[in-house]
Amino acid sequence: MSKLTRRKSMEYIKKEYVRTRTMPASWYLSSYKFKYNITHMEPMREKLKQKKLVGLQCSSCNRVFFPPRIVCGKCMVKPDRWVDLRETGRVATFTIAYIKDPETGEVQERPIVCAQLDGSDTSYPTQLNPDIEFKDTYVGMPIKVHWAENSEGGLMDIQYYDVTEDKAQDLELRKD
Ligand SMILES: [Zn+2]
Repeated sequence: MSKLTRRKSMEYIKKEYVRTRTMPASWYLSSYKFKYNITHMEPMREKLKQKKLVGLQCSSCNRVFFPPRIVCGKCMVKPDRWVDLRETGRVATFTIAYIKDPETGEVQERPIVCAQLDGSDTSYPTQLNPDIEFKDTYVGMPIKVHWAENSEGGLMDIQYYDVTEDKAQDLELRKD
């Protein structure tokens, strides 16, 4: 594919819609109240208080969700089986965050990772140990839960993730 055609195919094409009617209105967003139901997380919160991890499993497709989900998006059934999870896992994906120090104004590059615990089929955004730099982060990085000092029965009980010993890093390419 030539450069020209590629550029052309990437162009954004705005779809035209036939306007049937207009309705002047204003929405007061502050008047809306949303309630997020977290009762399905209660068993997990109880376990977190004891520094233990559990995931919620769908009895139809056997996928394990951590954090637990109200419904399995694949089977449209309520996951109802609690399974124990290990404290170890891996980095499923990551991105960079530029965090400005409010006092010095210095901008720091921090990795924001999606952690997938061993035994779980889903990942969630969280943080790595502050000592770990963005350039050293990679997909598949083995990690382990670092518990916060005080457990409150929430995901914040996992303060961050430490990096565990990585056997893959010790492998050297054969020179012959
Ligand atoms: Zn399912």
